[in-house]
Amino acid sequence: MKAIITTPGKKGSVRLGAISDPSGTGMVEGADGKPGQSVEVEVVEVGVCGTDLEIANDGYGAPPTGRDRLVLGHENLGRVVSAPEGVELQKGQLVVATVRRPCPERCPPCAAGQSDDCLTGNYTERGIKGRDGYMAERYVEFSDYLIPLPSTLTKVGVLMEPSSIVEKGLIQAFSIQRGRMPWDPKQALVCGAGAVGLLAAIFLRLRDIEVSLVAKSDPGSPAFKVAKAVGANLLDADQHPVAGLAKELGHIDLTFEATGASSVALNAMAATGNNGVCCLSSVTAGMRTVTIDSDSLNLDMVLGNKLVFGTVNANRRHFEAAARMLGAAVRKWPGVLDQIVTRRVAVEQFADAFSRQPDDIKTVISFTGG
Ligand code: BGC
Repeated sequence: MKAIITTPGKKGSVRLGAISDPSGTGMVEGADGKPGQSVEVEVVEVGVCGTDLEIANDGYGAPPTGRDRLVLGHENLGRVVSAPEGVELQKGQLVVATVRRPCPERCPPCAAGQSDDCLTGNYTERGIKGRDGYMAERYVEFSDYLIPLPSTLTKVGVLMEPSSIVEKGLIQAFSIQRGRMPWDPKQALVCGAGAVGLLAAIFLRLRDIEVSLVAKSDPGSPAFKVAKAVGANLLDADQHPVAGLAKELGHIDLTFEATGASSVALNAMAATGNNGVCCLSSVTAGMRTVTIDSDSLNLDMVLGNKLVFGTVNANRRHFEAAARMLGAAVRKWPGVLDQIVTRRVAVEQFADAFSRQPDDIKTVISFTGG
């Protein structure tokens, strides 16, 4: 069957190929490491994100053991083809699969079903690290890693994986903050207007928080239109650099950084107000360095009781929470989330999906001819 494959570390090697084993590794296993109940899924569409581009161009990612090629794709949406008896998934059910699988050592977080918090670093990730991904006509997966979606999410279900990342970050920000002080956030700053930044703005607006979204984007761009439709305050980063936003906006309770630029992440920390929280979500696999005023950043964080944390990946609970948030957003702003998917390309035109266009938010590769 058709699959989009690459040789990690070899720039420009993304290609349309054929694979025979849809399981990602040859074996489908559950969280306990035992062979699981495998469900076959037909892929509907798969999103392309910055991480896929880093695998394609910057040497990120790794193939499954014993192979030199990796099937790409982790932002998936599919439909069940067949499930064994006892698994509560019917043929045709819309599903999304989680990305990370536990480490062989089964460290405490992995053993608890939280491989997103794996301690050993020996986890695998479908489409990213050591396990084939979802850019193939079909895949096979253990039922514990499949999240059923209602048909109301058909058009935006491909946004589930980035939504799970955002919702995990926000759930954690709220629970940490409320564990350390009375905290009633009024204003948030989101850096970046890619899919993750926009979803963060949307999920914060659903929580009735004022949101300013700063990005290198012009006012007429599709991204700014989406942000405006959900009531976010838009700031062009060229005129409103993140470094000066604390003064301009007043007290910022929560900052969510999703630009993919580590220098912005440092400014996002500094922009966060006293008793505030800054959530970093950009995967920056490059080698950039900057010089910082470390005394003043440290002093500011100490005297301001500020908290900065990083967040990566998401487990089943976060996917389920993300499905609820996406559902609420679709009901509140009908048609708006659809606009985050700015291009759908057929699998044969996969190369178009790996080349960024100025107005792109999320490009999606369609495996069902849509
Ligand atoms: C994916 C995560 C993954 C991370 C690191 C992100 O793009 O959304 O699922 O854990 O990359 O590989």
